Amino acid sequence: MTETHPQQAGEAAVWQAARLVQITPLTPRIKSFVLELPQPFVFRAGQHVDLRLSAPDGYQAMRGYSIASAPSADGRIELAIERMESGEVSPFFHEVAAVGDDIELRGPLGGHFVWGPEDGGPLLLIGGGSGVAPLMAMLRQRRDSKVPVPTVLLLASRTLEDVLYREELLAMEAAAPGFALRLALSRGAAARGVDYARRLDVAMLNDVLNLLPEAPRHVFICGANGFVNAAADAALEAGLDAAVVRTERYGG
Ligand SMILES: Cc1cc2nc3c(=O)[nH]c(=O)nc-3n(C[C@H](O)[C@H](O)[C@H](O)COP(=O)(O)OP(=O)(O)OC[C@H]3O[C@@H](n4cnc5c(N)ncnc54)[C@H](O)[C@@H]3O)c2cc1C
Repeated sequence: MTETHPQQAGEAAVWQAARLVQITPLTPRIKSFVLELPQPFVFRAGQHVDLRLSAPDGYQAMRGYSIASAPSADGRIELAIERMESGEVSPFFHEVAAVGDDIELRGPLGGHFVWGPEDGGPLLLIGGGSGVAPLMAMLRQRRDSKVPVPTVLLLASRTLEDVLYREELLAMEAAAPGFALRLALSRGAAARGVDYARRLDVAMLNDVLNLLPEAPRHVFICGANGFVNAAADAALEAGLDAAVVRTERYGG
């Protein structure tokens, strides 16, 4: 199994002042932030950027955020930021940041937790909460490229209303052949018969693996530390080859 080490990545990426052009609440705890880059960069689905806040006294705080938008040439990227109680950076974005602000940003960062249609599949994506952000970039690129790579997304959230990109994912599943969405809701009822009203476990993983025509060639797991640990353990217990499993940890 292989893990990303964001602190080692992106030495060459330069800081730029990105303009915040759109803010959209997506769930009670997560907002989407669209940033326009004065120096657009080419990135791969799964990569992230660093955002840096600077106080007048020189104090700086920097955090990584996955790019949720598909790679495109329009010079805009979307981030999905979850508000962490008593956090330093995420509450700033939820409560203070406004359209028109310039935000210090560098990227793209991380060269390991990435996928493109040329990498093929089958693809098993496992996300916890806002950890679906980089997986969304992969799914959007898969949709836009119209390459029908067999793909399953197992998305763990507290309740249905906490499911990030819920409407888009349901529409994607209805429209795109070879893509299945399964929700694991730890604190809410499952609205669809195919979803789960419990935390992720091995039996669930075996179920979703059966939705793929063969064992996944790529497995991407992203979310908070505890979630990634549990999902990676379950993946190995379900018999997946550690060599195909890649993880991205958000902290916590
Ligand atoms: C490569 C990478 C990509 C990331 N992408 C995203 C993203 O797309 N969206 C997003 O919302 N976050 C993402 N994160 C997490 C993000 O970088 C920050 O850690 C997060 O926003 C909290 O920062 P903060 O300053 O608000 O809280 P902090 O001041 O850093 O921490 C406040 C409290 O929250 C806890 N905490 C921090 N992160 C988590 C977590 N993920 N789960 C549970 N508890 C936590 C801390 O331990 C602390 O107790 C990513 C992290 C990495 C390393």
